Amino acid sequence: MTKPSKRIRAKTVNDPTSNRNLCYCVACFVLVLLLAGCAKTEQNRMIFYGGDIVTMSNTPSMVVEAVFVENGRIVSLGSKEEIFKHKTDATQIIDLQGNTLLPGFVGVHTHPDLAAYLYGYVDLSGFTYKTQDEVWARLRQAVKETKKGQWIFCRGFDPMLVSGLTAPDIKYLDSIAPDNPVFILAQSMHSAWANSLAFKKMGITGKTPDPAPGNYYEKDSRGELTGLIVETKAIMTVAADAIKVFNIKDNVSKVSDDYLGNGITSITTMGLANSKAFILYEHLSTHHPKFKHNVLDMIGMLPDRKPTVRHFVYLMHTTPSLFPAKVENGDDFFKVCGVKLWYDGSPYTGSMYMKEPYLNSALVTKGLKIPVNHSGKPVIDKQEFYDAVKKYHELGWQVSVHSQGDQSTEEVLGVFEQIQSESSVKNLRHRIEHGMLLPPELLGKMKRLNITPSFHINHLYYYGSALKNDILGAQRTAKMLPVKSTGKNGMYFSLHADAPMYPEEPLSLLQTAVTRKTREGEIIGLQEAIPVMDGLKALTLYAAWQLNMDKKIGSIEPGKYADLIILDKNPLKVAPDSLRDIRVMKTFVNGTEVWTRQKAEEEHKGSK
Ligand SMILES: [Zn+2]
Repeated sequence: MTKPSKRIRAKTVNDPTSNRNLCYCVACFVLVLLLAGCAKTEQNRMIFYGGDIVTMSNTPSMVVEAVFVENGRIVSLGSKEEIFKHKTDATQIIDLQGNTLLPGFVGVHTHPDLAAYLYGYVDLSGFTYKTQDEVWARLRQAVKETKKGQWIFCRGFDPMLVSGLTAPDIKYLDSIAPDNPVFILAQSMHSAWANSLAFKKMGITGKTPDPAPGNYYEKDSRGELTGLIVETKAIMTVAADAIKVFNIKDNVSKVSDDYLGNGITSITTMGLANSKAFILYEHLSTHHPKFKHNVLDMIGMLPDRKPTVRHFVYLMHTTPSLFPAKVENGDDFFKVCGVKLWYDGSPYTGSMYMKEPYLNSALVTKGLKIPVNHSGKPVIDKQEFYDAVKKYHELGWQVSVHSQGDQSTEEVLGVFEQIQSESSVKNLRHRIEHGMLLPPELLGKMKRLNITPSFHINHLYYYGSALKNDILGAQRTAKMLPVKSTGKNGMYFSLHADAPMYPEEPLSLLQTAVTRKTREGEIIGLQEAIPVMDGLKALTLYAAWQLNMDKKIGSIEPGKYADLIILDKNPLKVAPDSLRDIRVMKTFVNGTEVWTRQKAEEEHKGSK
């Protein structure tokens, strides 16, 4: 920057009526912002060596002893001798010390926005509490600690993981919390419960119409609210006040660090519909921060930018205004990929849409309050679904559809088939999400339509036994989550945890896909087990393919971004039952160290 001439400075200082002072300040301010935006692009050179390097490359492997990285990109791989030829005084040498280097995991379906909201919720989950007495004691304690009239938001309510726990009714919740509005979200996030004050606060009565098909506030035979709230749109109406109560700005950084600490270098938000969250995440991840967002950051309305996860987004069709003008949007750090639609719901609320009904077990009819001989139905009007798929397909966006049940997936594929036969737009990478009862006989059709699944594999780990014994029966569970069949059919597939539904732990997903074992050690559908390498690819390269990012991330290959993780053990060399115990030691995004176990543990100790 050249110095302003003395003449101009003298004039502006001496002339208080001039608006040049202001112009000068604004110019400096803009320059500071521009420099802040450029600060991250400084040169860096790194060499990784000294441990196993699992490249995940699809091309036949050569010996890889070391990796050379420059300015956030992988430049070359090879023997230690070859790679160390790149070494200069400025090169950072990273000795793996016997640990293993892999590409970062690609989180292909998660909900950081929900996770950030839920950070402040009271935890009632089966990951923390074992008995129903413990769960209700925790709620009573929360009531004691909360001022009268203030909201109490709870999460993780789970009659399946907590033995003996049954869904509460409105009277029971009123008896525990007569003076506070209470909202309790199920672990599945597809149902919730609220007390009378909560409904009153949100203006919902027995006469309030259901917000969408399959989304409702349950009423008894007299038309009175029972306290049960079913499916996303109904839940969002009641939980709307949580957005005002919790400051998600403070929680988003914690949530991002949790992803990095699990080795996840890219995340994908499924079904974002909130413009504030959109701006916040765009500002955090993009490489090209917008001027107005930098201003909001400087006045404390957005969190400070620091290197973090890449972030891909699928928006809801109900918020078309959030879509960028063009499919080519954003950058490799923050981008909208397409639209997310729901065709059915959750296996645990009765909203999974199936050919055969749920079992009429005590868990189904009493615990989960699912009607006898119920087989679910679509959670969206069929015409609305067709119109939305057609609109976004024609515009060239990826379409990702939540579909758990066999009947659901059959109908969804029918819609895609019809639309693709009517359209000249081809080869978009559309997706089916979760696929619990994805019928293997439909995989051929999926392949023809270029639709690939992302499997919600830890349903098997956490709820496999309940699904087998109480919800679906042995026959259906033996065929559920057909991961191996998908690969055999020559298709890509990915695995996801759907956090905050299940903890966002890729190595836990890997162990379940490889062993097909439940938390209790029962094996379900062993013929669908996959080798460790296939599971690792599902968590990296194949996931990147589903995001149209396979040329840029997902493996350690020259030209790709240096999104790398160091694990304390090589997943290809440990017993399958201990994959879940492998620890992430360090995480790098774009060649920048963004998380280390040592630092995180020190901070954790410090905060105690
Ligand atoms: Zn989800």
